[in-house]
Amino acid sequence: MLLYNTLTEKKEALGKSKGRPLRLFVCGPTVYGEAQIGNARTSLNFDIMVRYLRSQKWRITYLQNITDIDDKIIDKARKQKENPLRLAGRFEKSYIKSMKTLGIDTVDTYARASDYIPRIIKQIKTLIKKGYAYKIEKSGYYFDIKKFKDYGKLSKRTAAQAEDGISRIDESIGKRNKGDFALWKFVEVPTNKKPRKKPALVNGEPAWHTSLGWGRPGWHIEDTAITEKHFGPQYDLHGGGMDLKFPHHEAEIAQQESASGKKPFVKIWLHTGFLTVNGKKMSKSAGNFITIDTFIKHHKPEELRWIVASHHYRSPINYTESTVQDAVQSLQAIQEYINRLSFRASSKQKSGKVKKQNRDNPTKETTKKFHESMENDFNTPQALAAIFELINQTQSNIWYLSSAQAKNIIKTLTQSLTTLGFNVKPIPTPQNIKKIAQERELSRTNKQFTQADALRKKIEALGYRVEDTPLGPLCLKQTQKSHHKT
Ligand SMILES: [Zn+2]
Repeated sequence: MLLYNTLTEKKEALGKSKGRPLRLFVCGPTVYGEAQIGNARTSLNFDIMVRYLRSQKWRITYLQNITDIDDKIIDKARKQKENPLRLAGRFEKSYIKSMKTLGIDTVDTYARASDYIPRIIKQIKTLIKKGYAYKIEKSGYYFDIKKFKDYGKLSKRTAAQAEDGISRIDESIGKRNKGDFALWKFVEVPTNKKPRKKPALVNGEPAWHTSLGWGRPGWHIEDTAITEKHFGPQYDLHGGGMDLKFPHHEAEIAQQESASGKKPFVKIWLHTGFLTVNGKKMSKSAGNFITIDTFIKHHKPEELRWIVASHHYRSPINYTESTVQDAVQSLQAIQEYINRLSFRASSKQKSGKVKKQNRDNPTKETTKKFHESMENDFNTPQALAAIFELINQTQSNIWYLSSAQAKNIIKTLTQSLTTLGFNVKPIPTPQNIKKIAQERELSRTNKQFTQADALRKKIEALGYRVEDTPLGPLCLKQTQKSHHKT
């Protein structure tokens, strides 16, 4: 199994973790709004990876965090005059629900940042003790990036360059370096406030009473506290969107390697590509913001999985109406092919008519190509291409396959696709449709063509179409064109 490691910029063999499952941590959402299809992309990518690895007997523990304390959450809650933790709780629920709808069930543990305050404090104290963190009065504790010589090694930026990065880097007068980030942010709590376990709410900001003073954690320390608790100071795989490389993941490395003195913090870093909508970054102001809920209203969850799987996880996806139509058509083509094969397999016609050149078994090659693609840094587009190759190779002779051959192809197709999280299986034609089709066959035999035509129309009105095959009529569900614009 080869994986592209962002840290080394090379494909590396995935090694077994001695006596324990592989440990994978993936950055989850900051819960302050409905999850959108960009979040879904990352989650689907890692769901496919974990499914595949587990299908190949890898043991793997999959941990994802939920950022429920963050400036963005606090800002939104203030505007809405809501408790930020309650607001985060609402969107966390909706995120988990969306994941279920999308068939993402590979995550073992979702860890909420606010449940890890003692761990966070412990890690910050270690950093203070070792000289990596410093205090700014009335502001908080900060990480001194100049003290960590490797800062920038993941994103290939030097510490000096790193200072240019301002995305989610906390501003404070008194920082030693521009790129220093907050570990703990003080919240000014009235002096008469009694210490308690639950967070206090001061001007809409949650504050925990700790040995470092009243305050709340910075974003980056939440993740390393969570992973240290579950995985220890070093683990196998860390994933997330490409945009999190800097400063977020860089900060995670700095914190954990400084705190433990052990390198590397994570063996392999996996980053998923961007998702744009109609060529642009998704944003509410650009009018191209698509939530998972909106997508599900108009499309099947599997169609989003298809869009994701038909691109390599590191490549960008440009979501457009035609990307969606491609997914709809590909899934329909596969479903219809499986239904045809199933019709062939269940037909009583003996294999006497099987053409000679059709006797060899093409599924072995498909399975081999499918696995080779997946083992090569999860090349899902190539794995899907292997599936279509099998369809293209066998479809011209489909009615002359033996029943066993047809069954074998069904098995290969369903097994490969199930590994990627698709739920495909033969769908039998409903009995009432079959009956009409038989009546129509009889009319045709008796040369009652007007009647036969009327029966065909009846079948079509019920949402099916008749395909006349050498084995008799086969009714397939009418393909539906999606007219929705999302
Ligand atoms: Zn994270």
